[in-house]
Amino acid sequence: MTEQETYQPSKKEQAFLNKVENGKYDRGIIRGLQKFIDNKVPEEMQGFYSDEELQALINLKNTEKDVEARMPVKITNHYYQIAKNSRAVQNLIKASPKETFDLEGAPDPGKQLTYSPLEGLIHKYELGLIYVINTCSAHCRFCYREELIAKKEIHREDGTIASKGLAKIPELVNYIHQHNKAVAENGGRHPETNREKLREILMSGGDPMVLNNRNLSEWFAALAEAGIESIRVGTKELAFFPERFDQTFFNMVDNWHETYPEVQLRYMVHFNHPDEFLQKDENGNYIDNPDGGLVWIESTKKAVSELAKRKFIIIENQAPFIKGINNDPDAIRIMQRELKRNRINNHYFFCGRDIIGHKAFNLPIEDAWNLLNDSQKGLLGVEASARLSITHYLGKTEVVAVTNDPIPGVPGAENGVVIFKLLRGAEDAPKKGKVAIVGRNPEAIWFSGYEDRVIYDEAGLFAESMQSTSSVTLEAQSAMVK
Ligand code: SF4
Repeated sequence: MTEQETYQPSKKEQAFLNKVENGKYDRGIIRGLQKFIDNKVPEEMQGFYSDEELQALINLKNTEKDVEARMPVKITNHYYQIAKNSRAVQNLIKASPKETFDLEGAPDPGKQLTYSPLEGLIHKYELGLIYVINTCSAHCRFCYREELIAKKEIHREDGTIASKGLAKIPELVNYIHQHNKAVAENGGRHPETNREKLREILMSGGDPMVLNNRNLSEWFAALAEAGIESIRVGTKELAFFPERFDQTFFNMVDNWHETYPEVQLRYMVHFNHPDEFLQKDENGNYIDNPDGGLVWIESTKKAVSELAKRKFIIIENQAPFIKGINNDPDAIRIMQRELKRNRINNHYFFCGRDIIGHKAFNLPIEDAWNLLNDSQKGLLGVEASARLSITHYLGKTEVVAVTNDPIPGVPGAENGVVIFKLLRGAEDAPKKGKVAIVGRNPEAIWFSGYEDRVIYDEAGLFAESMQSTSSVTLEAQSAMVK
């Protein structure tokens, strides 16, 4: 083993790790459509797919339209219990032939590999995103990490073809040290990339909460020791299996916080729809809580309360708007209100990415903006803090406004305009706040839909945006269908 491949925990770190205890969980996971086809699921789940639905999916098996080659089927028992009474949640979790009708899309959405100096690390801004696992407790059909979860082979920038790998502690810690040392020695900017200090790591995948406490704690401690100021954990486990947030987990994070009190922990949770956390009565209506608000699913409420009562943990929700799942302003309004009441901040809603098969899921950008805007009517300012974001390969971009009326004297603005603003440049900070203004196109589901109607583009969003989708050749796609 080389020096880079080994990692020696410090004494302080080891003392913390020695206290970690793993919990025992039974998620009741069903993996793969075949289980439904062979009727090898628990009796109560046997009608989850109708015979016609199953037959339509069987017909696609081993063809280029095979839905499981795009995204494997996986569901927990907890999520099934919700799905059986929720059309929105069924649409999120049940495979459908619609997913592969049109396979246009990018094999590497957001050009992530362009920003990957190390396997499993995407380094943008002062933030590093790491893949620590390539599965979740259940799989959303619309997942924008479908290439990672389905272990697809993709074309890399060095010309090789391989699936995306996971980050490893020794290499990542070494990278953080090297990067931050070079930044410090060069007056606050990296001499080659011009990036600032790497301050924050977003643990992602897949879902880090699928890791056991031991693995999770090794990451938390190693990142804290490497000087990372804030650790974010991207998770949908509160929706899929909230019992994962048990006492052994909270003991671990409490000990970690005691050991590294200066490091922040942010839970970036992922609720798409209020059905994922609210109870319903026999008529399908949410239930008023006599103490205020609505009645939550008990295990989810318990997990959220435990997270929220720890002041060192910040909880923020972010979720994409997906056709047939949450394009309902009333549901989104209820969700924002209930989350904020329970100390979960509403951070971002996202327009769907240009993943393979995105046409089955993405709402038109202008519909998404109207959806968020309508959903926030009647909310308090603190409840309506979420912004609508769309991830351009240049960086995170906000859809700021969609106007209806013509702007006199401005060619291209006869039907109103859409205004985009770059929130964070992927390379460095100076482009933050730059805007692009385009004439409206109610059909557009990606930047490419505005390419022919750019009015003003100081952000440079339309200089090369088409490369993120249309350069995806059939050759690249077929390389991914293993
Ligand atoms: S939880 Fe996130 S990463 Fe996991 S399947 Fe859903 S969208 Fe994909």
